[in-house]
Amino acid sequence: MSKSRSVITLIHKLPAPTKIIQGSLVVYRTTCYRPGACHCHKGKKHGPYWYLSMRRGGKTKKVLIPKKKLPLIQRYLHNWRLYSHLIRQIMETNLELIKKEV
Ligand SMILES: [Zn+2]
Repeated sequence: MSKSRSVITLIHKLPAPTKIIQGSLVVYRTTCYRPGACHCHKGKKHGPYWYLSMRRGGKTKKVLIPKKKLPLIQRYLHNWRLYSHLIRQIMETNLELIKKEV
């Protein structure tokens, strides 16, 4: 397959930009402010609570994710990993094409 054709093939494999999110899922279990009165202080903590942790402009932003949205978020995160992997491959192929043209 020619290099320019392989770029087109890679482009077709890109996940839709409307279905990608960059970040990582973080899980928290917490204790509340009722020591002695709540099970969380006897080992059974509240949660799990899922957060999407995102680096934005040098800061980390955390967004609480409802449990029912977890599979969707996981799919979007997977799509981002695939997207960035494919974009890197496309850029490397582009560079090879440019080198050949010189
Ligand atoms: Zn508690």
